[in-house]
Amino acid sequence: MSKASSPTTTKISSFMLMIIFIVLALSLTAIILAINAWYTPGQELTAGYLLLIGVLGVAMSTYILFQTKKRMLRLKIEAPSITTTIECRKCDFKSIREFQRGDYIFKEVEPCQKCNVNMLITAIYREVKERKRERFPF
Ligand SMILES: [Zn+2]
Repeated sequence: MSKASSPTTTKISSFMLMIIFIVLALSLTAIILAINAWYTPGQELTAGYLLLIGVLGVAMSTYILFQTKKRMLRLKIEAPSITTTIECRKCDFKSIREFQRGDYIFKEVEPCQKCNVNMLITAIYREVKERKRERFPF
């Protein structure tokens, strides 16, 4: 597979990841504070609230983390593939393969399987796929 990931996706996901880890850290702090409050007389209610916030925070951030991971995996699989069409000038043999770094139109590539004449790249295009179902769940 070619590593043609767009820089914007990486930026967004690392930003998301940062927020998730901040939420996770805050939630863990809340849990620690809850434990502390639990051993402080008269702070049982506060401990309960803090624990609730902490558990909710951990649950939420792990959920988002898994969703983001799933989405990123899906994006990786469905990343628009760039296709290169190679044609033989002599026998019109056509071959289609994934775009490789350094490909350009009218570049001479490997010889034809049938007549051993160097083939030419005749087209490079991006395959457009439907991405309507790729919405974020929230
Ligand atoms: Zn040929």
